[in-house]
Amino acid sequence: MIQVKNAGELAKMRRACAISAAALKAGGAAIEAGITTAELDSIIYDFIVRHGARPNFLHLHGFPGTACISVNDTVIHGIPKKDIHIRPGDIVSIDTGCKLDGFNGDNACTYACGKVDKEAQRLMDVTKESLHCGIAAALAGSRVGDISAAVQAYVEENGFTVVRDFVGHGVGRELHEAPEVPNFGRAGHGPRLVPGMTIAIEPMVNQGRPEVKTLSDGWTVKTVDGKLAAHFEHTVAITARGPEVLTAGWEDPAWTL
Ligand code: MG
Repeated sequence: MIQVKNAGELAKMRRACAISAAALKAGGAAIEAGITTAELDSIIYDFIVRHGARPNFLHLHGFPGTACISVNDTVIHGIPKKDIHIRPGDIVSIDTGCKLDGFNGDNACTYACGKVDKEAQRLMDVTKESLHCGIAAALAGSRVGDISAAVQAYVEENGFTVVRDFVGHGVGRELHEAPEVPNFGRAGHGPRLVPGMTIAIEPMVNQGRPEVKTLSDGWTVKTVDGKLAAHFEHTVAITARGPEVLTAGWEDPAWTL
């Protein structure tokens, strides 16, 4: 069942999402050649706890990190590790969030370590813009399929592919709620968007084929062809005045908590 949030609940969502965005930003700012994904994870953990919130990815279904940190051909759910060192030219997707006062935030961004090659940069730019296309379609009265179709069209127009096996989702008291928000689909289909719905829109975009595989650790999701993947995500509230991006902070270099 889709949970519609009232004004008081939305205010709590805003606070959880602001800390989630600032934690993501802190992780992104710490990326440098040689740092391990475990070190990035502990920076994000410390940030969240210091701000009085609780890491909501940690221990969810047994996940061992505060953030999923996915490098290059890892699409999502990369487990932070002491032996994964970031190298110059890597692209690093960080997906993290926190719970505060009973409500969750969720967001993700793919960062470059130093200068990356032109196609890697274009993959990141297109994925980020596809998120914005999805957000622009998140209008009260429209349907989830309008978001899905907007993301898919922009990605495929630009020669990349969307992952089918994992999707966005409602977010609120639970990190993952109804409805599913796929990055592919048909405009005019799916659940109706109504004010007070809060959803995580999260394009996962591959440079090559859309197929992914999960490694034997049960978490790490990689592209089957070994090509790069990018992942951007915002938590968005549907309002009568248009979409409100609750995790907007990480996109604005001047923004602080
Ligand atoms: Mg999510």
